[in-house]
Amino acid sequence: MDIKKEDLKVLYSSEQIQKRVKELAQELNNFYKGEEVIAVCALKGAFMFASDLVRYLDMPIKIEFIRLSSYGSSTISSGKVNAVDIKLPDLNNKNVLIVEDIIDTGLTAKFLIDFMNMNFHVKSLKFCSFLDKKVTRKVNVDADYYGFEVDDKFVVGYGLDYDECYRNLPYIGHI
Ligand code: 5GP
Repeated sequence: MDIKKEDLKVLYSSEQIQKRVKELAQELNNFYKGEEVIAVCALKGAFMFASDLVRYLDMPIKIEFIRLSSYGSSTISSGKVNAVDIKLPDLNNKNVLIVEDIIDTGLTAKFLIDFMNMNFHVKSLKFCSFLDKKVTRKVNVDADYYGFEVDDKFVVGYGLDYDECYRNLPYIGHI
């Protein structure tokens, strides 16, 4: 499938996104109350969301990156989570905030939450996803914080790709 930028319909504009990201950051600031947080950004899709979000967080914050993939060059989840690079420092007794681009089937979120719980005794674990496709869930998992709910549409932009393109768009679009 070939998607042209002109064929994309804007679902959330850059202005709407920035407003919502600030609101989310405020919720997180209220929750953590100045305690140190380790934000774990799931690459590649969450890079833009994470970089905007952390700018609005006011607690001491360290940022780690992990790389996962489940889609390849398709618009349908492969149903398997591929941990491309998941090296992390010692997260025992830390406030861990997983930052993800979108929850779809929930497999990636579940994989990450299970991974953290199996490997570390964290002080707290929260999951913050920019988008939530609640209708396509296959496993029982929920974000503690999310930006916008989306229908069962394949979306691109603001970090999300189609075959590695469109990550740089400042808005969320769909075909
Ligand atoms: P899940 O494991 O929840 O099925 O999928 C999570 C991953 O699939 C996300 O991190 C994201 O990379 C990818 N994904 C799910 N839905 C979409 C979508 O609508 N657009 C894009 N570009 N990626 C998606």
